[in-house]
Amino acid sequence: MAIHEFQRLCWRNIEMLCPAEWEMTFSSSPADTPRIILSDRRYERLKMQWRQLSYTPELSRVIEKHQDEVEHVTILNSLPEGWYGTIAPCGSGSVIHAGKFFSKTKMLVELILFWNKQREKHIEEKIMESIHPVSSSVQSCLWEAMGMKVKIPSECTLSAFNAEAGQILWKFMYGDKKSKKEVIICRIALLRAIFPQPDISWEDLKAFIESQANPRKSRIARAESSTYNGHTAVRIVWLTIPDGMIKRLTGYKNKIVEVAWACPVEEKIYRLSIPFEDCHVLSEKLHVKCCGDRWKSTLYDKEQKGK
Ligand SMILES: [Zn+2]
Repeated sequence: MAIHEFQRLCWRNIEMLCPAEWEMTFSSSPADTPRIILSDRRYERLKMQWRQLSYTPELSRVIEKHQDEVEHVTILNSLPEGWYGTIAPCGSGSVIHAGKFFSKTKMLVELILFWNKQREKHIEEKIMESIHPVSSSVQSCLWEAMGMKVKIPSECTLSAFNAEAGQILWKFMYGDKKSKKEVIICRIALLRAIFPQPDISWEDLKAFIESQANPRKSRIARAESSTYNGHTAVRIVWLTIPDGMIKRLTGYKNKIVEVAWACPVEEKIYRLSIPFEDCHVLSEKLHVKCCGDRWKSTLYDKEQKGK
């Protein structure tokens, strides 16, 4: 099958292009070495892992050894710059093992590509040429996977993610571990099942978000009309009861700002929550994209003016 469209994937400091119909069907937990699997509707197509090394590996020797040790393996000589790899027959197709060491970031990327029938070299080249590590010195990092696109300050690290039917959830941590500061981004599908009406007001959104909360753990201190990516949004300040016993006994409450909006083009509801005290700082570097090309929001204007 001819594939012409490519999509960008940005995940844990790696950016790449892959065919639009390949989806990330596995990702290792944030505590483990980054590993992903991309699959089309029927098969696994690509497995990839990446890690930083303290030394420069001799990839040409690694693949020579691989060829000597495993039967029917052939070294590939015309891969994109910096890539070393081998090909071996696999069923009615072939399997490619390849690796590239990015000396600037000291990142070794290893991948396995599966071709069920004919090897599609142009796709393979496009993927390999596009793969590059993202430097951690940049202000904001792009995260793009599972249908979500997020720009987030690079000091935020992925702490958890969940992709269940109808809901994608990413959690990022920042600051010192004790403070447990979190940015949470959630995308909920089936907008029309939740809001069948064509016009969704910020009060409708507020009622929905409130219905999802546990009233014993959090309550709304303030809610107001807002916009995000040009869509109707609700901006909520939550007071939540923290986990620690001492904080609980002293009546301490966490203040969290949440913005929720409905994207009628994507038919999704987005929820973004951040600690209240860092709202101002994060607003410069944090954006969640939905339809169109808009990255800008008016989300924090009121907060800034109010102070
Ligand atoms: Zn939208």
